[in-house]
Amino acid sequence: MEQKQKNNELLWPAWQAMFGYEEMYMQALAWLNECDEVLLVSHMHPDGDAASATTSMSWILDQLEIPHTAINIDPLPKKFQKQYNFSNVLQASITAAPLEKFKYVIFVDCADRERTGDLTAWIDDNANILNVDHHATNKKFGTVNVVDPIAASATEVIFGLFCYLELSLEQEFAYSIYTGMLTDTEGFRYSNTTPRVLRTAATCLETGIPGHVIAEESLGQTTKAHVELLKRALQRLQFSDDGRIAFVSVTVQDMDETNGTFADLEGIVNIPRNAEDVEVGVLFKEMKAGTVKVSLRSGDSMNVSDIAGLFGGGGHKKAAGCTVNGSIEDAINIIIPEITKVLTKVPVNGG
Ligand code: 5GP
Ligand code: MN
Repeated sequence: MEQKQKNNELLWPAWQAMFGYEEMYMQALAWLNECDEVLLVSHMHPDGDAASATTSMSWILDQLEIPHTAINIDPLPKKFQKQYNFSNVLQASITAAPLEKFKYVIFVDCADRERTGDLTAWIDDNANILNVDHHATNKKFGTVNVVDPIAASATEVIFGLFCYLELSLEQEFAYSIYTGMLTDTEGFRYSNTTPRVLRTAATCLETGIPGHVIAEESLGQTTKAHVELLKRALQRLQFSDDGRIAFVSVTVQDMDETNGTFADLEGIVNIPRNAEDVEVGVLFKEMKAGTVKVSLRSGDSMNVSDIAGLFGGGGHKKAAGCTVNGSIEDAINIIIPEITKVLTKVPVNGG
């Protein structure tokens, strides 16, 4: 970690000139100047960006000497264990609640407050909230909202904050920033891969972090449970009558039999989505009897966050999610007609 790069004079003006977010970051700085003990949280079932946003924000707080506790309702996936402060991130379900609730809370990668799961034992009702996110559907629930919907990942927003704060770039911070951008763009492939993403990624690589190792760890390697769950999901693969929607499902029994975790489901929804002529891929995941989590993926033809929004969920145009009550079959009967309704208005092949 010796390599340091005095980058801020070069980076911040470029960032600011492109998007004019100075006011937003100025408010974040004022919030950081005022806070004391901070609770740092991200969304349940943390993915690469949630984990990386947590560890990179923790790095910034340490640079600013702001005492903080990072927590998630679920464990961060082990494949991100090399990240800064990874082992200090608490898991709420196995940690005793604090005597005093936190009055300053930073949310990263959360479109709404409910995304963290129930942390009421940790967060004061009148807490001062800094909301750092990149979802277009963000509810702006913070006292200060640093929300940049152009950013591909929450870590890209955190990199903007880092530039504004004029900190010096170090490998351990670059490692997390790069991982969040890599995973939320699915390997720099999605349409959120802007020139700014690649410039920021290049800046991270200049610190000497191994991009290919990060790619292999975070996107390449998979678990045995993942492959087993994929097998079961594909056994239930169905196409809509017009072939424009493909969907799979995973039951509680599948999860039990494979010893699978939520993280083991990552990527499964892309397989039906990528089939020829398919415009929307869906994964129905039974969380418990009567509750189904729905993951939606689309190409250019429609905005799936509109569908998720109908059921209290959200996300991005091409990747969104929600939870519905009922069996998997009920969920299929609710969700698929809503997608069909939209697709019938769109010419085949995106138009
Ligand atoms: P996934 O399908 O991988 O769980 O989520 C895809 C995208 O949708 C992510 O950006 C995720 O944050 C968002 N998302 C998934 N489920 C929900 C939900 O219940 N509410 C909201 N607001 N966003 C969700
Ligand atoms: Mn994200």
